Amino acid sequence: MMRFDLHHALPANVLDCTAAQLADVLRGPTLFDLGKPGKAPLFVSVLLHGNETSGWEAIRKLFSKYPELVNTSSILIFVGNVLSAQKGVRKLDGQPDYNRVWNGGSTPEHKLAEDVIAYADSKKPWCAIDVHNNSGPNPHYSVITDLAPATRALASTFSSLAILAKQPPGTLTQAFSDLCTSITIEAGIPADPDSSERATALIRQLLSEGKLAEGSPESLEIFDNFVRVTVEPEIANQDRTFPKLNPELDTFNFKCLPAGSLVCSLKDRSRGIRANDVEQRDVTEDYFVVEDTEVRLRQDVIISMYTRDPLIAVQDCICYFLKSIEP
Ligand SMILES: [Zn+2]
Repeated sequence: MMRFDLHHALPANVLDCTAAQLADVLRGPTLFDLGKPGKAPLFVSVLLHGNETSGWEAIRKLFSKYPELVNTSSILIFVGNVLSAQKGVRKLDGQPDYNRVWNGGSTPEHKLAEDVIAYADSKKPWCAIDVHNNSGPNPHYSVITDLAPATRALASTFSSLAILAKQPPGTLTQAFSDLCTSITIEAGIPADPDSSERATALIRQLLSEGKLAEGSPESLEIFDNFVRVTVEPEIANQDRTFPKLNPELDTFNFKCLPAGSLVCSLKDRSRGIRANDVEQRDVTEDYFVVEDTEVRLRQDVIISMYTRDPLIAVQDCICYFLKSIEP
């Protein structure tokens, strides 16, 4: 059985801890309920992925710079994978991905997620923000799971770019969109202090306004992540140095990558990567050609969330393909 710890105040010195040090103070997944009577809370989640530290850094900066907010703001803060944060990894071996367990299921982590949703639901949050980082250089952007005007307005408060994500299933944002206006923010890479600054600025703005900003949904450019590219499990298990991902693609996030571009190289001629559409249909042949050990694009695509880290590629995915949509 897995439970989250509930605190109604910030423990002494928790704000001194980096993400990796949190495990010294917290036992595991923790919900800080700093809700105030008669004031619907903002829900913020951080560290669903242990190596994506900007969310926790944003919370530290928020309360260090504006200590009065501890007593005045109505906020629920969920700190997710404390143990993988200690190791600086997305998740520990044997753990499910903490951002794939929010749609019901049988593991202890699914139960944990269900309990967090039930608790948050009882507090009637008006807005939910899940803070993440990309492992490669991307412009910062929001991930939304619906096209409601309020969702688009919230996303446009953070960035002019958003991805409408219908996959993968089981994300926190998808689940919370049933409770309130809910977005994921991809703040940038963890090593860049601007990433947490951006998240702090958004959270502070939402706390001070206490309601959804007007925003300008029409200024938001929205992409559909209609294909997800993953590493085939058999390849992933045999050798963690393959596939060798092309480091030059890093700079192409949100840009068009022409047909013929090298995506990765494999150990042998076996098929090592797979492209799935939103219905989980295998569309690999539509997008990739394998020449010897090299995997190249068959057609022009816009890519996002491309990683050149083979471990991230195996644990999550190599990239998504995007198409621009009009809401
Ligand atoms: Zn993440």
